[in-house]
Amino acid sequence: MGEVPQHEQPAILAAAGVDRVVAELVDRADGPGGFADVPAYPGASYTRRVPRPVPALRAALLVRTVAASRVRDAIRNARAAGESWAELAELLGVADAEAAYEVAVGPADDGAGWAWSRHRDTYWRCSTCGGLVTDAGPYGHPSDNESGHADGCARHRADIAAYLVRWNEP
Ligand SMILES: [Zn+2]
Repeated sequence: MGEVPQHEQPAILAAAGVDRVVAELVDRADGPGGFADVPAYPGASYTRRVPRPVPALRAALLVRTVAASRVRDAIRNARAAGESWAELAELLGVADAEAAYEVAVGPADDGAGWAWSRHRDTYWRCSTCGGLVTDAGPYGHPSDNESGHADGCARHRADIAAYLVRWNEP
C-alpha cells in the first residue's frame, strides 16, 4: 500500500467538507454579501472569496452542534452494536469508561445548579435481544446500569459474567 496522498487524509477531507458546508450556509443566509475577497496569501496580487467572519462563525457553530449530535448518535449506535464503554473510551480518546459515558450524555452540571434534574441516561436498541435499553453508564453491576434487555439476553448475561469475574464474586 502506498501512502495516502495528503489531500486525501481524513482531517483534510473533513476540513474541505466543512468549508464547503460553511460556504453553503453563508450563501443561503447572506448571499454574496456574506463573502469578501481577500488576498490569497499575505502580499498576494490575486484574491480568493471567503465567508465574512461573523456569518462564517454562525455557520461553523451550527456545524459544530450538528456534528456533536452525530457523535452522540454514533456512540448510541455503537453501544447498540455491542461496544462496551471501555472500548468506546479508546475510540473517543478519553481516559476510561466513565469518561466515554460523560461524552455520550454531556456535562453533569450545566452551571445553573440543576444538574440533579437533568436526565443523564442514554438509550439504544440492543442488537442481541432487540430490547430498548436504558443505559445509566458504566458505574457498577450491569443489571443496575442497563434496563430493558429481554430476559436471558446473551449479551447482557455475558456482561454480568464479565463483571462478576472482574469483581471476583462468583
Ligand atoms: Zn439485550
